[in-house]
Order: sequence, then C-alpha cells, then structure tokens
Amino acid sequence: MSWLLQMDRKWIEDGLLKRRSNYSPVICFETTDPKRLQQLRTFIANDGELKRFEYLFVYDQWNGLYRLAPSAAGLAEEPYKRNVGSTALMQRLGEEGGALTQFKAVLKEVDGFLKKHKCLFIIQNVAEHREAETGLQAALRSWAIDPLLVSKGSMIFLVTAEVDRILDSFTRELTVIISVDASSKAEREQIITSTARELEVKLDDEQRAELVMATAGLNLHQMESILLEAYFTTKGFPLFTIKNLKSNLVKRSGVLEVKDPELGFQDIGGYQVIKEFIQKYVINVLRYAERAKRFALPLPRGILLFGPPGTGKSLFANALAREVNLPFINLVTENIYSKWLGESGQNLKNAITLAEKMSPAIVFIDEIDRFGKRGGSADSAGEETRRVFSQFLEWLGRTDRQSIIVGTTNVPEHLDEAFTRTGRFDYKIPFLYPGESARLEILMVHLGMRGGHRNRAPMSLSDEELGAFLLEDIVPVTRNFSGAELEELVIRAKRHAFDRAAAGLGPQDLIWAARTFRVDEQQRRETIETCLEQARKFTDDQSFLDNLEQEMGLELG
Ligand code: ATP
Repeated sequence: MSWLLQMDRKWIEDGLLKRRSNYSPVICFETTDPKRLQQLRTFIANDGELKRFEYLFVYDQWNGLYRLAPSAAGLAEEPYKRNVGSTALMQRLGEEGGALTQFKAVLKEVDGFLKKHKCLFIIQNVAEHREAETGLQAALRSWAIDPLLVSKGSMIFLVTAEVDRILDSFTRELTVIISVDASSKAEREQIITSTARELEVKLDDEQRAELVMATAGLNLHQMESILLEAYFTTKGFPLFTIKNLKSNLVKRSGVLEVKDPELGFQDIGGYQVIKEFIQKYVINVLRYAERAKRFALPLPRGILLFGPPGTGKSLFANALAREVNLPFINLVTENIYSKWLGESGQNLKNAITLAEKMSPAIVFIDEIDRFGKRGGSADSAGEETRRVFSQFLEWLGRTDRQSIIVGTTNVPEHLDEAFTRTGRFDYKIPFLYPGESARLEILMVHLGMRGGHRNRAPMSLSDEELGAFLLEDIVPVTRNFSGAELEELVIRAKRHAFDRAAAGLGPQDLIWAARTFRVDEQQRRETIETCLEQARKFTDDQSFLDNLEQEMGLELG
C-alpha cells in the first residue's frame, strides 16, 4: 500500500485550519473509509503540531478506549486500563479488568484528560448511539465551548459518515464538519498505477484512464479491494470485471444501483416526436458538448418524464444513457425512505454524495413524486418529509451538480410548485399511450422484427406478411394499450404458440392474446386528459405539444 502516503491530505488540513481559527475544537470528518482513518493516523504521527499531543485516545464501539503511543512504525495501540483501585469498584463499573468499553464511562474519563492536558480524542465507528445512555452530543457541545479545553489545545475528531444521524442540528452548529471525498481522480490514478506496478499488471494510458473513470465514486478501501479481487480472479484489471465489482459494491449501499444500459433508441417503438425532441435538446448537446459550449448553450441537467404506467418512461431514460454513453445510476427510492427518524435524510445525503462522485452519469429517479412533496403534518414525520424535500430541491438547483437527473412520475399533479418551477428541470416531457404506428412498431420490437431483434420466436409468416397482419388486425384492437401491455400481449401469444406445440407463432396466437386483454377505455381517456392538461401546463414549446398531440391525438376522438 505504498500509495497511501501520496493521497490527498487537504481534508485533514482543512479541519486543522478551522481549529486554528478557533471555530471549535470538535471536528467531524465525514467518512467511514478505513484507509482514510489510516491516513489520518499517519498524518498525526508525522505532523509537527499533532505530534506534540501529550495524550492520544481512540474510541470505537468494538474495542472500547485505547491509547495511541509513538512507536517505530508510527503509532501503536495499547488498551487503556483505568486505575480503578479496588475490584469491587471495577465490578460496579461493569468493566473488564479496568478496560473501558462503555461509551458513557469513556466520555467521562477522557473529559478529564482533555481539560488538563493537550489531548487528542478520536471517536470512530460510532454508527448509532442513544443519547440518553451515552451523552455523546452533550459532551461534544460542552467541549466545543469549554475555554479550558481550548486553552490546552485539545481536540476531538469524530470520524463518521453518519453525521446527520448521530448529531442533531444544535450539536452540528458547534462542530466543524469536513466532508471527505471518497476518492479524487488523481488518487484513483495513483492507486491504480501503484497497484498495477506492485502486481505487475500491464496497463496502457487509455486503459488506465478508463479505469480511473469507471471507479469514480469508490472510496480508497473499495478501490483497493476491487483491484485485488479483479487481479485474483483474472490476473489483471479488465474493465468489464471492475465495472461489475463496482456495481455490486454500489448495490450494497442500498440506495443506488449502477449499470451499463443495454437498450438504445432503436429498441423503442414509435414515440418519434419525443425521440426527436430528446435527440435535439439533450443528446446532441451532450454529445457535441464542445460545440454547445461555443454557443454558450447550457448542458441539460434535469428531465422530468411523466405519464401513465408502462408507457416507456424508464425505457427512454435507459436509452438516453446509452445514446450519450454515460453510466445509468438508479436511485432506489423505496430504500431512501426509512421508518427511523433522521435516517431518510441521511440516506438521501449518502445517495446524493455517491451519485455526484460517479457523475457525469444519468441518475434515474423513479416515482420522483415521493421527493416532490413538502409533507403536510406538523409532527416529526412531516418535518422529516419536509427536510428530505428541501434537501432534494437543493440538489436539483445546485449549480455545480454533475449528474443529469431523469425523474419519472405517474402523478405530476402531485408535485409541489417549487419542484416543477422553471430551472429545476430543463424539460418536462409527457408520455401518452402509443398511437397506431407506435403500436405497430412496439409489437414488432417485442416480436424481434426490428430494433436489436431480441427475443425473436420462430414465425409461421414472413416478416412482411406478419407486419401487414399486425397493422390490419392487432393495431386497431389495442387502442390505448401501453407499451408494457403490448409487450405482455406478445409474451402471451408466444406462450399460446408454445402450448399448442406450433412450429411458429402465427396470427391465431396474436388474436387469442389480444382477446385476453381488457383495458378500461373510460379510465384511460381520463388519464390521457389529465396528462395532456399537465403537459399544457408544463410545456412552453407549443410546436412540440402540437406534434405530440397529433401523434397520439387520433386516439382521443
Ligand atoms: P412506470 O411508470 O410503471 O415505471 P414506465 O412508463 O417507466 O412505467 P417502462 O418501465 O419504461 O414504463 O415500460 C415497461 C416495459 O414496456 C419496457 O421495459 C418495455 O419492454 C415496454 N415498452 C414500453 N414502451 C415501449 C416502447 N415504446 N417500445 C418498446 N417497448 C416498450
């Protein structure tokens, strides 16, 4: 791990700078990366000022309290044994052999050192605690403003990525909070280069650059472990393996999933007006970013796709990522919301940080309406919803945002005004049920007759004959079917052909499948009306709307 010394130390220096400006002796470094902790310790062992501490204490939930003392290898750990005097007292304290493990007792013990000596206290791996039992926040607040502690030059480092969960807003006010990058581009390059050298893996510049890009968002520890894992399984760092390992790691976070999109515009049937719109205003601008820059055109950063279920919104988002060759990151909406107070905010914060680190990317947010409401109730649950809402709004409006957010909703009418106001999303695009030619194309895509020709079954007619049959007999009876329903119809037809042990799928299978479907015409009309109403409200591009209504409008009559 020769690279550790070359890692960016700015985050530590930033923390110390704040300390010197006397803001607060309590510094919270937002990270859980074990390599960052190691980096912090190495820094402490070598830094002129930090070396002067008389006492260095570390507490973590597993090991309890221990001391760090200078040794040949940097800083050595030794368990802190309290001089308890009598066995009876020891027993009363419930501590083993005088070693302090209970958080509350630890805080009390270290308090004396912080006030009487120049002392550094590092608190790490504290994922959760009960304030009533530990008194952590009360201790941090009193240390933050204690003149004795300040005059001694003592400091407290809290190392955690869960600051919102662990500290309330009052305690956060009194704490210096330093956010720590998962990994910078230069750091990733450094790790890849030195690990490749150590393992004798040959990489050319292009491969190295691709790996640096593909590992964005990973922390140092994760970087090291996926490089080693890839090496042990393949004796190299193949891009495909690295991407897979990263995608598994990201998935474990529970809040994001990352994948390389498989389907492009060619796999979407119909929706020509929307395809052209996205091509012109989104894809071309991203693809020819240099030209867009010359014309001072801003890059698109937010798109809202709305309309009834199954009309291809997610499919378009996927295809967009593929067309612009960016990773597709799915924000797992249902996992962000937690029943534990304070957790939803923390989850969203983690998701945003990670997504930004992996960007530029398409960040897909299904059911974005879950974030797009203020939250009505006056209780703490309502407060949490409001907090998540404003956190989300803040992200959408951030000028330095690197991610391109593509959100979808079936209920645009539920979105808050602040959310749909100009500036948050560049484009709001309505999705309606496919018109005649779109239905034909969608059926053909799923029969494997066009697009990527996937899932093609043997057929009893030529493509040309089948195409004519679809147009004549199936398209008219599938009015107001969604793309998803047309896909399902094709699957049912295939199943029917399979059940009757036919040599190929034929017209009778499709007719049978179409008969098994019923859609509620009245309800669909109402849905279309609502969607068009929202479209008129959101879209100021009249010609786009006219074309869209023309493409779909036939179905309204
Ligand atoms: P929801 O609002 O329920 O999330 P959605 O509008 O995002 O729905 P998708 O998930 O994109 O709908 O569509 C479901 C499936 O229907 C797609 O995976 C695809 O197979 C099929 N489908 C929908 N529209 C089309 C289309 N235009 N061309 C081809 N297939 C389509």
